[in-house]
Amino acid sequence: MAGAAATKNPTRDAVPSTRTVNTIAGLRAVLDERRRAGASVALVPTMGALHDGHLALVRRARELADVVVVSIFVNPLQFGPTEDLDRYPRTLEADVAALTGLGVEVVFAPDVAEMYPNGPAGTRVGAGPAGERYEGAHRPGHFDGMLTVVAKLFSIAQPDVAVFGQKDAQQVFLVGRMIADLDLRLRLEVVPTVREADGLALSSRNRFLDDDERVAALVLAESLDAAHTAAADGTSELLAEGVAAFGDHDGVDLDYLVVVDPATFLPIDEAFAGQALVLVAARVGATRLIDNAFVEVGAKQPPSPAE
Ligand code: AMP
Repeated sequence: MAGAAATKNPTRDAVPSTRTVNTIAGLRAVLDERRRAGASVALVPTMGALHDGHLALVRRARELADVVVVSIFVNPLQFGPTEDLDRYPRTLEADVAALTGLGVEVVFAPDVAEMYPNGPAGTRVGAGPAGERYEGAHRPGHFDGMLTVVAKLFSIAQPDVAVFGQKDAQQVFLVGRMIADLDLRLRLEVVPTVREADGLALSSRNRFLDDDERVAALVLAESLDAAHTAAADGTSELLAEGVAAFGDHDGVDLDYLVVVDPATFLPIDEAFAGQALVLVAARVGATRLIDNAFVEVGAKQPPSPAE
């Protein structure tokens, strides 16, 4: 009987061995069986080339559910024709090794034909206008492609909770809105951005930076610090200080630095007070990096009648 009880109430402390599943039917079979035994499921969608940022998501997932599924899929739908799909790092063996011991039960690593057997031109989820700003302006179609694969992964794995990183702030906003708009039955959990000791946000693309670029890349985090410090003085001050941080950095091209209302993802105006989100994107050499930070914006006092 003790064995039956253990099956009905899976303990999270026991570390299950990690298996890799490549097919949708295979993943569904594993998860159906575990759910029948009463297990809850957490999904961590990734594109692989795992680093400590991804592993923080996995550790959080392990706290939240009995079964952790990590998907590893470089989704062609979210890459534009001129983007780095072919160059995107693929390190499946090392990824599985990194996940082993963290209590991940399944790595779901389908190939493109498994995910898109009818080719890429089928049904898509539309991100709407919020998907056309900032990253979406730079990468047309990116967020439709991202939401489409995330919706497919949700449908395939039927997780109770999905864990995403704040590092990709616009992505997390759009996934949350898709869950609400489409009444999807799962909870979204967001993990804060994991950084190197010097402040650089971990990213699979950091490996493309040479030594000089690695130093130059710190300007993104520095600009967020500058914006954070200036936020008490109001919106235009924080924007001015954030942009000024890029002043004299050779080889770095600022793409945008904006401050948005986290509830709407629309730019805030001077009257805004409260928690806002600063988004920054820049090209460092040939590598495009993004970062973001929450700030507390001070309200501008209206000029007194005497002035
Ligand atoms: P990616 O493999 O780049 O698609 O990222 C997979 C997930 O890991 C997304 O939810 C990302 O937001 C998250 N992620 C990537 N980098 C970090 C980081 N430095 N800190 C926290 N989460 C991250």
